Amino acid sequence: MRGKILVIVEHRAKEIREITWEILSGLKSLIDNYDMELQAVVLGHRIDSLVGELAESVAKLYYIGDEELEFYTWERYLYALIPLIEEVGPKLIIMGHTSTGMDLAPRLSAAMDSPYIPDCLNFRFDGEDLFVTRELFGGKLNSEIKAAKNKSYFLTLRPGIFTPKGEKGQQKQVKGIATAFDKKGFLTQFLGLLEPPREGIDITKADIIIGVGRGVGDREKVKVVEELAKVTGGVLAGTRPVIDSGWLPKERQVGQSGKIVKPKLYIACGISGASQHTIGMKKSEIIIAVNNDPHAPIFKVAHYGIVGDLFEILPAITSKIRSVKSPR
Ligand SMILES: Cc1cc2nc3c(=O)[nH]c(=O)nc-3n(C[C@H](O)[C@H](O)[C@H](O)COP(=O)(O)OP(=O)(O)OC[C@H]3O[C@@H](n4cnc5c(N)ncnc54)[C@H](O)[C@@H]3O)c2cc1C
Repeated sequence: MRGKILVIVEHRAKEIREITWEILSGLKSLIDNYDMELQAVVLGHRIDSLVGELAESVAKLYYIGDEELEFYTWERYLYALIPLIEEVGPKLIIMGHTSTGMDLAPRLSAAMDSPYIPDCLNFRFDGEDLFVTRELFGGKLNSEIKAAKNKSYFLTLRPGIFTPKGEKGQQKQVKGIATAFDKKGFLTQFLGLLEPPREGIDITKADIIIGVGRGVGDREKVKVVEELAKVTGGVLAGTRPVIDSGWLPKERQVGQSGKIVKPKLYIACGISGASQHTIGMKKSEIIIAVNNDPHAPIFKVAHYGIVGDLFEILPAITSKIRSVKSPR
């Protein structure tokens, strides 16, 4: 056996986050080639239901339950995890490249004197050597790096790379671990979750999304895209510059620092196709891109592409759909 892989589970409001399922499914196929054991650890308070959900997905599941761990804080997670990682001795310790992963993994890596490789797309072993694929220049190139030899490595895997398959095996080993930290010694205190005001639309649940890019020009002109959304029954979402400019609210952002969406249809209007955006929508069932630049990278992920001015193309599509829906 080459060793163990330990996945640190992310959850919020008693739900396991999609990224953890993505990682567990992705790792199952990745480690098929190597004789490695997939293990996971979940931390929290009153987490029996999470333990139940996870127990069949890994060879061994550790859980650390303590009221101090009800909400994520780096200190409590760090001090709870270090003794476990020391005891288990995994070769790889893996989290999602999420805000929690980016907060915790480097701290653990520094505390345990093991390398941390962030935002990984993939990894492989060649003999004892670990090779990791990462992106360069905003996704224009990928690089494969060889990690310096070490007994263990911390990796954060980019969300949206693997598809959760929901496969379950038989009930495996589940082991409760006691926390080994001094509850009085923490520097930070979790006070409460501040939820952003919701405007009622969850783009991750939409079947049809019309993506608005900077190519639309300004907030007033978003109307032309809105018309297409109305006629298709779709919802509007946007790229980061569109959100930053205030054309659409923050919860409509798709991409690395926004949401990952997988609708049946995604129509990208005036979107260049930067990797930070496409990571959030490239798993859509059908992608149609409208862009006046034939070399725009969005066409690499689109199933259908229309090269031209969106102010001519969108009204034409909108009016065609209207006429098909209500023929005279
Ligand atoms: C750490 C980090 C995180 C990021 N996170 C995100 C994220 O979560 N989501 C995200 O979207 N971005 C994110 N970005 C930004 C990302 O790198 C890109 O800058 C952004 O996605 C580009 O948005 P855009 O396609 O709307 O604009 P642009 O890149 O400016 O593209 C506009 C496109 O519109 C086309 N166009 C112009 N006029 C017309 C017309 N009349 N008709 C048709 N086409 C037209 C142009 O040819 C061009 O391709 C992030 C960047 C960083 C560094």
